[in-house]
Amino acid sequence: MSLHLIPASRRRFVQASLATAAVTLGCPWLMAATDESADQSADYWALLADTHIAANKDAVSRGVNMFDNLNKIIDELLAEENKPLGVIINGDCARLRGRPGDYATLRIALDRITAAGLPIHMTMGNHDDRDPFYAAFKKQKPDAALVDGKHVAIVPGRHANLFLVDSLNIVNEVSGKLGETQLQWLAKSLAEHRDKTAIVIGHHNPQFLPEGSTAEGSGLSDTAKFIDVLHSQPHVQAYFYGHTHNWNRNKTSGGVHLINQPPCAYVFNAKHPNGWVRLKVQDESLAVELRALNKQHTQHGESHTLEHRFAAVS
Ligand SMILES: [Zn+2]
Repeated sequence: MSLHLIPASRRRFVQASLATAAVTLGCPWLMAATDESADQSADYWALLADTHIAANKDAVSRGVNMFDNLNKIIDELLAEENKPLGVIINGDCARLRGRPGDYATLRIALDRITAAGLPIHMTMGNHDDRDPFYAAFKKQKPDAALVDGKHVAIVPGRHANLFLVDSLNIVNEVSGKLGETQLQWLAKSLAEHRDKTAIVIGHHNPQFLPEGSTAEGSGLSDTAKFIDVLHSQPHVQAYFYGHTHNWNRNKTSGGVHLINQPPCAYVFNAKHPNGWVRLKVQDESLAVELRALNKQHTQHGESHTLEHRFAAVS
């Protein structure tokens, strides 16, 4: 079954306007849908990152079986009464080098989500590789690339559009880059979709190096240009990223929320939680809730309301 097909059995109806919008936006595979019984006041998205799935299901890194972790999270998602509009996996889907075997194993887990009727979207991290990824997930490849050589998408919701960017620069090199062409596409796309809140989602963290620093850093090498693009439109409210395996949040100088997603896989600091994030989008605000894998973790269930920029003057 295609990853993006939504069986009619679970859905009461498909919002035709969103399906049309998906086609218009170059995402013919996307058909956003909603349950009549679900909370109509908010969009709900399940945000995952850094699954790091290896070909070998038994692979363990830093004491964590990555395949088991992902499946535990999928168990949670599928048990929820109120299902998300979609599931986003924000990069480093594969273990280290984006091998075909990694994606074949990832597909075994994700097919469970697809079978339940939930669309899945993925971004590319530094441990992914686009060609093997597209070979395993054919429906993720748009008919015509929106940005040459990059895996990007615009995913429409009822209250916000999600702009998925591709910060993979060189496979298995830690730092990331969006590049001029993609930044121009993003700026243009944000400007063309001002009717709803914009949320940008990509793998690498913005890095704010001291002025004059020659350090390369491990985040987005073109952070300054990227932040300028985010600030260029008042309806851009947040950037979600993974990569650092460290659940955290911050804001840019211009008030854009920066949300660092937890990893599905291992953490680099044993005190940090791994798990996933429930994102709720309403007209005036966003809300994030941490769903830690360890339900005893002190941060499990913590939630934050992210007020819109310029809310006071709008
Ligand atoms: Zn990464």
